[in-house]
Amino acid sequence: MISIDEAQSRILERTWTKGAVRVPTSRAVGAALAAGVASDVDSPPHDKSLLDGYAIVSADVRGGAVELRVIAEIAAGVVPQCEVRSGSAAQIMTGAPLPRGADAVVMLEHTTRLEYPDAPRIRVDVDRVAAGDGIMRRGTSIQRGTCVLNAGHVVRPIDVGLLCEVGHTQVDVTGPVHVAVLATGNELVPAEQIPGAGMIRNSNGPMLRALARDLLCQVTDLGICGDEIGALQRSIRRGLGNDVLLLSGGVSAGVLDLVPKVLEDLGVERVFHKVHLKPGKPLWFGVCHAGSSRTLVFGLPGNPVGCLVCFELFVGPALRKLRGLGTVTPAIRSATLADGYCHRSDRPTYVPAVASHLEDHRLVAVPLAWAGSADQRAVGAANCLVLFPAGERVFAAGDQVPLLLLGPIPPAG
Ligand code: AMP
Ligand code: MG
Repeated sequence: MISIDEAQSRILERTWTKGAVRVPTSRAVGAALAAGVASDVDSPPHDKSLLDGYAIVSADVRGGAVELRVIAEIAAGVVPQCEVRSGSAAQIMTGAPLPRGADAVVMLEHTTRLEYPDAPRIRVDVDRVAAGDGIMRRGTSIQRGTCVLNAGHVVRPIDVGLLCEVGHTQVDVTGPVHVAVLATGNELVPAEQIPGAGMIRNSNGPMLRALARDLLCQVTDLGICGDEIGALQRSIRRGLGNDVLLLSGGVSAGVLDLVPKVLEDLGVERVFHKVHLKPGKPLWFGVCHAGSSRTLVFGLPGNPVGCLVCFELFVGPALRKLRGLGTVTPAIRSATLADGYCHRSDRPTYVPAVASHLEDHRLVAVPLAWAGSADQRAVGAANCLVLFPAGERVFAAGDQVPLLLLGPIPPAG
């Protein structure tokens, strides 16, 4: 049996990153950029006014009420033809290019318009205007050719504006990750049905599909397959065209746990079977090579919490790497136990727990009453999984434990 770390690295060693595809920028949200994005313009493209006001020579304003002759009006979108010299000013709108000669813009509210019969004038009502006031120089924000977003950056709605400003209405992102999900077990009925005697609902299939979709993968539902070699072969073959095939059930030591044998008979190369972990020990992982394409195959435990833990620890990192994300392993945080806790297990154990933030931002965790890997109810109340080491140990309130987050953390109340 291998360790959690060893299993993670064996999986990631065999996981690739999807090739680039070009998509409209507005559709790229959630995808990782396959290459850095460079600007095709300076931003701003010209020295521009940040205000509605008057472009002036700043040295003209040195205390006292100075009067300036208004020689032009410059709107955004036009190239000014005038030159502002000492003693003159050009009315200018926000975003308009600064006229030659001017080195500052004084805001409209700091001036008084004086209508002289020959030409309009303004009085500047502030004592000082410094060179550079009210203007933004060409290229201050972005210089043409510079990279504004790096490869691996996950495009957010707020990035779409930036990408469009720098001329990228289409971007190259890491291609979609295709995941197929198959639940195995004679006892399973679709979750929509009321289970008959001896039967249970397939909850792992829908959960795995939701987890993969949450990581923005394209998911195919292969439904439920009974524990029968021929049927398993047919269903598994359908899944092997995907980047990842997720199977649930049939990987433990029972007579009808046929999945490892069927996978190996179909030519899926076994990388490991069983991890020193609780819940999640029966995990099977292998790779199927077909020509130049590959499929990562995860045989996840049938017990729902084991299935969830294996997804979080092993499948999630592979999906994130396929998607081209920078950080792929799950974030492990440290928390203080709120109360004493007695732990005994032969394996490192992830226990559903509730974490909350103390005022000083430290995390405090309370493990939930939990009946083990088949007890999914505790997961509904949990927002994290606390990791206890293998062995027998009485933990005291205040002891530090690592935890894996499953959801948002509220303030301690
Ligand atoms: P297995 O790994 O096939 O031995 O299954 C272990 C336990 O998980 C058994 O109690 C199964 O009934 C249960 N189980 C298997 N598959 C599922 C599933 N898709 N949804 C919920 N429970 C399952
Ligand atoms: Mg089974």
